Amino acid sequence: MESRRGFIRNMLGFSAFLIFGSRFKWKKSVLAASSSSSDISSSSARQKKTVNDPAVSVKYCGSYNQDEVYASILSGFGDIGFHVPRGKKVLLKPNILGQNYPDQAATTHPEVIGALCRIFSDNGCSVVIGESSAFYQGGGTEEGFVTSGMSDVAKRYGAKLLAFESTLLRKITSGQVLNPFYITEAVFDHDLVVDVPKLKLHRLARYTGALKNLYGCVPGGAKQLYHKPYQERPDYQEYWAKPLLDIYQAVNPGLIVLDAIVGLDKDGPAANGTPRKTGVLLISQNGAAADIAACRMIGFDPLWVPAVAEAVRRGLADPEHVRIIGELPSVPYDKLPDLVHKKGMAKKLDDYMFDQLIVEPAVSRSACTKCGICIRDCAPHAMSAGKSGFPVRNDAVCIRCYCCEKYCPDGAITLHGGGVNHLIRAVRSVAGI
Ligand code: SF4
Ligand code: SF4
Repeated sequence: MESRRGFIRNMLGFSAFLIFGSRFKWKKSVLAASSSSSDISSSSARQKKTVNDPAVSVKYCGSYNQDEVYASILSGFGDIGFHVPRGKKVLLKPNILGQNYPDQAATTHPEVIGALCRIFSDNGCSVVIGESSAFYQGGGTEEGFVTSGMSDVAKRYGAKLLAFESTLLRKITSGQVLNPFYITEAVFDHDLVVDVPKLKLHRLARYTGALKNLYGCVPGGAKQLYHKPYQERPDYQEYWAKPLLDIYQAVNPGLIVLDAIVGLDKDGPAANGTPRKTGVLLISQNGAAADIAACRMIGFDPLWVPAVAEAVRRGLADPEHVRIIGELPSVPYDKLPDLVHKKGMAKKLDDYMFDQLIVEPAVSRSACTKCGICIRDCAPHAMSAGKSGFPVRNDAVCIRCYCCEKYCPDGAITLHGGGVNHLIRAVRSVAGI
């Protein structure tokens, strides 16, 4: 089983490199077209200018024993003065990058999510665990809920699972560089968003934690699309932090519980990295402060991490004024080499392989009843009725959110293409994992 998993890890790692570690092409018209869709109500509703308290509670937690994690989180809440609300709607946003298992340390551990479900549901809150995974082989986000252990946890504590591809989208126009963009409406349907990242290394972002985790509020392949305008820049690795922060600020989480009990060292963000025990949970109401603490713990200058540097530039935290409550351990992680901008054949190969990853929605006329739901609910208005009344997708406008696949009540929309995804799915099927 381990060698099979190793193969899958390498495949996913290769895919992650193609997505996040190389330049890729996309039809230039896609962003421009979505920018011109002026008939969608815009919103910057959740974004606030306030800077949350930069206190970070460091809680030793030697294992993923449920009771130990539960007690550590509650104690951390006390340290930072966070009061658990009563009877509210709470959205937990873990990191479920793909269809990984908890022991691979590429996803937030289910017992951390379980402890949070327990705490909030004990206070009469309704709890939703929401995510949009980065990889769409096999069952996408929903399959990721199963492999990562979130389905079991949800069942145990009566929480609901929500793949963001099945939600309506909100158009955001408040980004400093990314405009417009779309994130899940679920963020605005809840009273409290809890950001529950995994401490990991990341080939593009260098480190990923609280700030980067909310990129998963962008559904489906739009996550890849939003890299596109910046990839030809020589400072792409640094500059990409700006759209990342635009999304983080739009979501504006009220609480961060960073799973650093076991992090992912040596490589990442996919499961080709090496699990490394760090032994703590970091709890804060300020994502930038939590990431500054995490970077120090693993021996990184926080300002070397572009997302942290950008958050500091935007005034979300000051590294000199992060208040650490508890003892921050020193567990140095390896630094990944910086990106190499490929040229010539190497770049063409990257572009080709990237195209093989992307899946696209297609309408089956034999199953479609022309109900019009996909036309009505497509946020960027990429679907319209063709001459025959069947919906037609405008490739230049479609952001590949994959929401229409979920909207369609008749199963008439399915995802096609993605040669590498199909290969991974076939390997999983043959290997039985
Ligand atoms: S056509 Fe489907 S995948 Fe494309 S933007 Fe609309 S809902 Fe999203
Ligand atoms: S939602 Fe499904 S059945 Fe309705 S028009 Fe779209 S493809 Fe056809």
